[in-house]
Amino acid sequence: MSIAENIFDIEERIQRACGRAGRKRDGITLMAVSKFQPINMVEEAWQAGIRYFGESRVQEGIDKFGRFRVEHPEAVLHLIGSLQRNKAKKAALFFDCIQSVDREELIVELGKSGVREKPLPVLLELHTGEESKSGFSGLDSLFRAAELVLESTVLCPQGLMTMAPFTGDRDAIRASFRMLAGAGAELGRRFPPAENWACLSMGMTNDFEIAIEEGATLLRIGSAIFGERV
Ligand SMILES: *Cc1c(COP(=O)(O)O)cnc(C)c1O
Repeated sequence: MSIAENIFDIEERIQRACGRAGRKRDGITLMAVSKFQPINMVEEAWQAGIRYFGESRVQEGIDKFGRFRVEHPEAVLHLIGSLQRNKAKKAALFFDCIQSVDREELIVELGKSGVREKPLPVLLELHTGEESKSGFSGLDSLFRAAELVLESTVLCPQGLMTMAPFTGDRDAIRASFRMLAGAGAELGRRFPPAENWACLSMGMTNDFEIAIEEGATLLRIGSAIFGERV
């Protein structure tokens, strides 16, 4: 199967899930997670209509997308992997959004990065059951993080991100996504306007249909588009 065929397949599955959930397709963005994939595969995904890309490492993203973004200025690139404090500034200057904001010291560090033309969009990562335990641990720490982001003139909040546990237990996955959607709604009430928290980045190759049913607005899909990472 080619990348274009894979994307066509995923698109059909997204539309079926939207149908089941009574949602509109245009409320959902499909992001291609291109970590460990060469730039020619990224180019193929671009040709097949993908505009959003996710990378998990700062330097890999910079090396891979430096030229690509000059050639394709409409491409949008998010950092989705855990970010070390000493790479925060570099990441803030290159990526269009940092999805993996998972602790207060990182918010502080990103807030110092300065010299961008526009505020840096960020998502707060909530731990909802995945094994590695990355992300804020619950609503209390999430609220403190939200306050810190809102105090910063450099950062602008867009919503939340999570990874479901890697399991065959569909109910556990669904509970994880439902927790994220609930937290997003809670943030919207507590820190209006709700649009600031409207993005729900959840759903990967193995669970994106459940994520759609639970309200995902941004799907991060790697292996179903590019094949297994080697
Ligand atoms: C690798 C990765 C993905 C994509 O995973 P697939 O299972 O290949 O779709 C999504 N989100 C994050 C944070 C990742 O690290």
